[in-house]
Amino acid sequence: MKILIVYWHPEPKSFNAALFQKTHETLIAAGHEVKTSNLFEMQFDPVSSRESFTSVKDPEYFKPQLEELHASKENGFSPEIETEIAKIEWCDLMIWQFPLWWFGLPAVLKGWVDRVFAMGRAYGGGKVYGTGVFREKRAMLSLTTGGPEQSYVKGGFNGDMNGILRPIHRGMLQFVGFDVLAPHVVYGPARLSEEERELQLLKYGERLRGIEKEAAIEVGMY
Ligand SMILES: Cc1cc2nc3c(=O)[nH]c(=O)nc-3n(C[C@H](O)[C@H](O)[C@H](O)COP(=O)(O)OP(=O)(O)OC[C@H]3O[C@@H](n4cnc5c(N)ncnc54)[C@H](O)[C@@H]3O)c2cc1C
Repeated sequence: MKILIVYWHPEPKSFNAALFQKTHETLIAAGHEVKTSNLFEMQFDPVSSRESFTSVKDPEYFKPQLEELHASKENGFSPEIETEIAKIEWCDLMIWQFPLWWFGLPAVLKGWVDRVFAMGRAYGGGKVYGTGVFREKRAMLSLTTGGPEQSYVKGGFNGDMNGILRPIHRGMLQFVGFDVLAPHVVYGPARLSEEERELQLLKYGERLRGIEKEAAIEVGMY
């Protein structure tokens, strides 16, 4: 398979960095082709602006979606954004590795979505959900939390993790056509012992070795 790993964490010695490295080495060892977007190393700018484009539709009023539509027709994305879109077009499976921040994506990864899931290239003209541009591709979230697992269940302190991830699963990934695999969550790595964390890395490696055969999940409509 062709697999894209998109990663962000502000600390290169973090547990997320270890998960990112584990993903990369496991998938390569299993014979997959792998590309990465290490948004921390890239110092990716998450702010949507005219920097995303070499083309200009309206110099007086910056409306991102109109500029995206125009850039899609005119080959007018900046090299940085064009490269990221091309990686998504290339892959069969996309994995996002990140720490859960405020029940969502950390800002840099969210900004990557804002700038790279561009109207005209990633969605639009009726191409959403089942008819989405990236249908027949799959995506998986791999994340860590601060809170423990029992706080992320229905009726728990924070509520059900599937509900928390729904805006990402449904509003971003399925919206542009991806089938979604079950998320991989390591709950509270800072609360675990060194041995427990190493075990988590081994368990994730095992899952990744079988990822080609995994079926998509239903994302609840609530
Ligand atoms: C702005 C912000 C918002 C947040 N919002 C939320 C939220 O909404 N919900 C929530 O639950 N949490 C939240 N958090 C907490 C955050 O999700 C966790 O701190 C984070 O997910 C933990 O992952 P990490 O990679 O940062 O762990 P780290 O703290 O980097 O790592 C944990 C431990 O693993 C060790 N480690 C690193 N590599 C290895 C290795 N190879 N083998 C074994 N051990 C290793 C590290 O040395 C460290 O001791 C938030 C944090 C911030 C800053």
